[in-house]
Amino acid sequence: MKVILIGAGISSALISLLLRRQFGPGIKLVVFDKGRSIGGRMTTSYDSEDNPHCSVDTGAQYLTSTKSNGVTAKFFQQLIDDHVIEPLDKTNTIGIRENADKVDYVAPRGISFVVRHVFEQAVAEMNLSKHITKIDFSSENDKLLVSTNDRQLDEADAVIVTIPVPQILSQLKGSIAELIDRNQEAKEKLAQVKYSTRFAVGLFYPPSITTLNIPWRIYYVDKNDNEYLRFLAVDNAKRNNNEPPFSLIAHTSVEFGAKHIDDDKMIIGEEIKEKIFQFLPQLPRQISSTKYHKWKYSQVTQSYPDKSGYVLLNEQPLLMLAGDSFAAESNFEACIEAAIEAVKKIRELSS
Ligand SMILES: Cc1cc2nc3c(=O)[nH]c(=O)nc-3n(C[C@H](O)[C@H](O)[C@H](O)COP(=O)(O)OP(=O)(O)OC[C@H]3O[C@@H](n4cnc5c(N)ncnc54)[C@H](O)[C@@H]3O)c2cc1C
Repeated sequence: MKVILIGAGISSALISLLLRRQFGPGIKLVVFDKGRSIGGRMTTSYDSEDNPHCSVDTGAQYLTSTKSNGVTAKFFQQLIDDHVIEPLDKTNTIGIRENADKVDYVAPRGISFVVRHVFEQAVAEMNLSKHITKIDFSSENDKLLVSTNDRQLDEADAVIVTIPVPQILSQLKGSIAELIDRNQEAKEKLAQVKYSTRFAVGLFYPPSITTLNIPWRIYYVDKNDNEYLRFLAVDNAKRNNNEPPFSLIAHTSVEFGAKHIDDDKMIIGEEIKEKIFQFLPQLPRQISSTKYHKWKYSQVTQSYPDKSGYVLLNEQPLLMLAGDSFAAESNFEACIEAAIEAVKKIRELSS
């Protein structure tokens, strides 16, 4: 069986891994992503080639495991054993919520390395910079055809789409759009899925800067203290590395994101950069470069009503929607649970 997965984020990686475990070497997994790197919203950005060890986690910051959840705990333990994640040191942090049943982990090599590692375990073929715009039923056989704007790329027995629902509805044409249009219930439920918007600004410092003059590694900013900034981290220190090169990541508030949803990320990014220096006047100004990112679809504020982990649009050939739009929450742990449900369904249909 050949399966195409659209999206190279953590949901696609986890589904790939579970499919590999379920079906062994007999399954071929092919991934397409419009981005230039693996990770999706679990992404790590790097400074220029002159300062290659300076990086920031631009989207997800740390991964939270629920101790009492035996199912997801196994995934966390595997990543710990593989030296991909390690506990977040909560000394010198401000505003992280405490919960006796939760443990937080950081990824020392960058959060995108978690996704990369899971894909490697899954042995999936990766195709980047491929913006999928069409999924069609083949007229010749029982397969699905996947295309970009200018050409048909590949065909498979099954396609799993893991991109945020608003992007599915706005970007994907062909049989997939017709199926959604015909399925009134799914169509209405998909239209209910909503995401927040956030801007992220990363400051990369050259190795010559040996301190940022900041006493904390993570700071959740209270909305009464600043209306623009909501999350700040000295990113290398957050990842348990206190050596230069230093980097700082800032996320804006959801309210700020909503107000500027259609604005240019560079213009808004410059504005946010100034807000960072106003809020932290002691921060050195000698940065090496700056990363600006608009997460138009940041975290799910209203998920697919059933929170079922997936939606099956067609059984044969299998066409499934998955990802955090269908999960109980918009985070890594919920993506694990959603992926398990999706693969359980695929196994059931294939037996
Ligand atoms: C700012 C921010 C902070 C967060 N903080 C945390 C946190 O601290 N802890 C936590 O657990 N979670 C956090 N999250 C949420 C977490 O990142 C997501 O829940 C998770 O990464 C979702 O993964 P996914 O694979 O479902 O989707 P995505 O990661 O969005 O993957 C979808 C992929 O599809 C690709 N794609 C989209 N359209 C197309 C197309 N037409 N063709 C081809 N490819 C396409 C995208 O490029 C993307 O790579 C945060 C997210 C953001 C944005």
